[in-house]
Amino acid sequence: MPTGSGAMVDGRQANFVAGKWVASDEVIDNINPATGESFAAISMAGLADLERSVAAAQRVHESRLMYELAPHKRAAMLHSIADALNSLKPDGARLLCLESGKRLRDAEDEFDEAVRYFRYYSGIADKLEGRSIPLGSGYIDYTVHVPYGVTAHIVPWNFPLSIAARSLAPALATANTAVVKVPELAPMAALLLGRACEMAEVPEGAVSILCGSGPLIGGALVNHPSVQQVAFTGSVPVGQKILADLAHRVVPSVVELGGKSAGIVARDANMARVLDSIYWGIFFNAGQVCSALSRLIVPREMQDEIVGRIEEKIAGFSVGNGLENHDITPVISEAHQERVLAAIDGGISQDGRLVCGGHRLNRAGYFVAPTIFADVDVEMTVAQKEIFGPVLVVQPYDRDEEALAIANGTDFGLAAGIFTQDIDRAGWFSDRLNAGQIYVNEWYAGGVETPFGGTGMSGNGRDKGQEAIFNYVHTRNVAIRLA
Ligand code: NAD
Repeated sequence: MPTGSGAMVDGRQANFVAGKWVASDEVIDNINPATGESFAAISMAGLADLERSVAAAQRVHESRLMYELAPHKRAAMLHSIADALNSLKPDGARLLCLESGKRLRDAEDEFDEAVRYFRYYSGIADKLEGRSIPLGSGYIDYTVHVPYGVTAHIVPWNFPLSIAARSLAPALATANTAVVKVPELAPMAALLLGRACEMAEVPEGAVSILCGSGPLIGGALVNHPSVQQVAFTGSVPVGQKILADLAHRVVPSVVELGGKSAGIVARDANMARVLDSIYWGIFFNAGQVCSALSRLIVPREMQDEIVGRIEEKIAGFSVGNGLENHDITPVISEAHQERVLAAIDGGISQDGRLVCGGHRLNRAGYFVAPTIFADVDVEMTVAQKEIFGPVLVVQPYDRDEEALAIANGTDFGLAAGIFTQDIDRAGWFSDRLNAGQIYVNEWYAGGVETPFGGTGMSGNGRDKGQEAIFNYVHTRNVAIRLA
């Protein structure tokens, strides 16, 4: 059986608190969703651990150590974190696979992506230039980008390592310090970031990584008076609570929430591209992706043919343990399996046409059969609410304007897509779809370097790309009157 990430203390996975590995008496089980069995005991950080973490991060910030580290040396530090994390990949990817249920090959990809965040933002650390602004004779005016100080990072369980890296890397590149709250349901791979920071000799206390209760430790972190910026990724209700809490202290944040993203299939679409995107869009990671292709909007007269081809594809999927790289893997927990099944039952009770799936699979672990609803109206709950499972909702349309209205007809605005071979149609839809990212002919096209975020209930602010840097700095203007 695997050992822990970072450090095990007395057989328990410890937390990385102000540069030390600390175990606590309160432990929870880390359960493998593919078997339903516990494979490790996880220490839950307490309020004292949180206090020590924030105090250490504040001390490092006040010492100006990170800020005065020459930007090219900060860049080198990020490269060292990337190297260290990469060296932890073989065991770490296995841990990520066990705790999340995802395929081993996807866990390896997640490591690669996390490593890339540190390399990408290392490249920006020494290129974050200000402006010189003309004020006329007798003045010099320039801007500098100033770190906020202690930043908080609150991370969900679906991509715990890469989402933690996606905000930690730009925060460190811009000389902030950080406390990262990793998810209770899949904490071990993200805790490896503490080990990577230790190996890279990041100043002690600049980064802490804690697994703890969301309301207790996440809540205390958000409301800590020393925390000056928050990056949250997770559900809408928790995001709303965090935004309300932060309003009292007027603390800036980036919040990445859920979605109900739609892909429109035009009559001229390349069907091979559509079918390829269907696996990645809604069945990969058991559909537990914020920007999942959860709705497919198809020409009415083509609906039966398209649905039939997706069903054929599903019939060819293998189901099983992510360690063996099966196509269909479990959802994260028994409670989440119940939520997904309840959402499916809700669709059936609203007279949704259940084409296939709709039930748990008769095996150990938390598997849900790949599910399709067809002929779904825009008001139905399965077309409006995020399910976060392997459930595809198909909605027919007649005219392009109607397809656009259906796609834009939810409270969310995370991702949207159009499958067409007509560049004019691609441009028309891309201009009008209400979403932070538009995928044309390939769901999830883009990467570490492309900005990512939502509108409406999907959140605000942008992660990834150069845009994310500005989550972690404010711009200071210096105006000088010469003698
Ligand atoms: P969640 O909101 O339940 O939890 C997210 C994190 O917040 C966890 O670490 C949790 O412990 C913590 N938390 C819970 N209550 C808290 C509180 N009161 N104060 C502070 N922190 C608290 O979400 P989840 O179930 O882990 O993740 C699934 C959700 O995340 C889905 O809605 C999904 O769409 C969204 N998501 C969004 C993105 C994106 O980039 N937009 C990416 C991944 C997941």
